[in-house]
Amino acid sequence: MIDLTTEQQEIQEWAREFAARFVTPRALELDKNPESPVRDELIREAAQAGLVGNNLPGFLGGQGHDPLTGALVTEELAAACAGCTVLLGATMLGLAPILASGDLEAIERFVKPMAESWETDRPRMAALAATEPGLGSDFIQGHPEGRARTRVERKGDGYLINGRKVFISNGSIANLVTVFATHDSDAPIRESMSCFAVPTDTPGFAVGQIFDKMGQRACPATELLFDDVFVPENHLIGKAFGGWELNRLIMSVTRTPVATIALGIARAAYDRALDYATQRVQGGAPIVRHQAIQLLLADMSIRVEAARGLVWKSAAATAAGKPSLKLASMAKTFASDAAVANATDAIQVLGGNGYMHEYGVEKLLRDAKLTQIYEGTNQINRFEIMEAVMEEVGA
Ligand SMILES: Cc1cc2nc3c(=O)[nH]c(=O)nc-3n(C[C@H](O)[C@H](O)[C@H](O)COP(=O)(O)OP(=O)(O)OC[C@H]3O[C@@H](n4cnc5c(N)ncnc54)[C@H](O)[C@@H]3O)c2cc1C
Repeated sequence: MIDLTTEQQEIQEWAREFAARFVTPRALELDKNPESPVRDELIREAAQAGLVGNNLPGFLGGQGHDPLTGALVTEELAAACAGCTVLLGATMLGLAPILASGDLEAIERFVKPMAESWETDRPRMAALAATEPGLGSDFIQGHPEGRARTRVERKGDGYLINGRKVFISNGSIANLVTVFATHDSDAPIRESMSCFAVPTDTPGFAVGQIFDKMGQRACPATELLFDDVFVPENHLIGKAFGGWELNRLIMSVTRTPVATIALGIARAAYDRALDYATQRVQGGAPIVRHQAIQLLLADMSIRVEAARGLVWKSAAATAAGKPSLKLASMAKTFASDAAVANATDAIQVLGGNGYMHEYGVEKLLRDAKLTQIYEGTNQINRFEIMEAVMEEVGA
């Protein structure tokens, strides 16, 4: 078991208070009306509080939270609203390729000004664009048959990008998008892709459809269109043709925050079910005294503890400079399955009230489902766990 330091406990408490004050009161409004002006207010308040880039080092304008401390913060936010957490967190996902490239000039050019904006009234956001209509799991896995359709070609002293991305979190509100494009649509993606930083005011860039999604509705998932988008040479992130490997590298770091979002949902479901069960009287006693409800709550509490154990272990590995894709994938699959199971059980504990929007518990189930799909579906995550296991045993 990992013992939290006093400072980590204080940060956790601070994040809990922020969530209670600024996130919880807006969660249902943003679920109903994702384009509500409340969204910009939340982004501004969170950015000014340092919650958009809390994992960024202090010299780049972040809070310098280590990955475990970051997980404590994310769990608190996600327990209040998973969609709001992704709304705030997708910027760090968008910046992840730039940070992972280790290219100090690129970090100075793209990350620093964005971090500086978080203290102002006009916080700037980022998004990461990899998925295409015909390229989902194949990109995550680097499947040999997978092909990308978003193309890049050399043009003078830069690059020209053409294509279309889908399901991009925060695509419609981002100021900068890191986009993966292929140099050859007939070539396997592992060998043919590069990553580029594209400011969204670049001519030829456009936001297409904003998808009407089931859960995590506070965060817009969008189609992005690239029509002869020109970027100069220094907008290439990492090595040319090294795009897939760069994405692989960032997944060992970005998957744990997704697991943490799922953990937050699982915990919220358990907390709300326990709270309700102690108050609701049926059969002559608070329902928490009935064994049928106790069995549900016991399983929910086990899932929360187990998910947190995996999340913390994975975050601690990253903090120790040894990020593990296997551990992150274990945390992500377990926590997301736990979130779906706990949200389902929480609805059961609340009975008819659990099925009603106003209680916000059915939202947990809608929010939870997505954690089994993005950042690699749970099937693909399980393949990746086994890939690592097979390598370990030489099979
Ligand atoms: C709301 C939302 C937000 C998202 N945000 C982003 C974002 O910000 N940036 C981004 O780039 N992407 C984003 N995504 C994309 C997400 O990562 C993909 O949806 C996910 O990787 C799955 O890809 P897919 O939807 O194309 O499903 P598919 O790959 O078509 O998978 C469909 C089903 O087939 C299974 N499957 C696929 N391949 C195999 C195989 N080889 N063997 C066995 N089973 C297989 C899958 O597990 C799944 O059950 C987002 C998606 C959603 C829904």
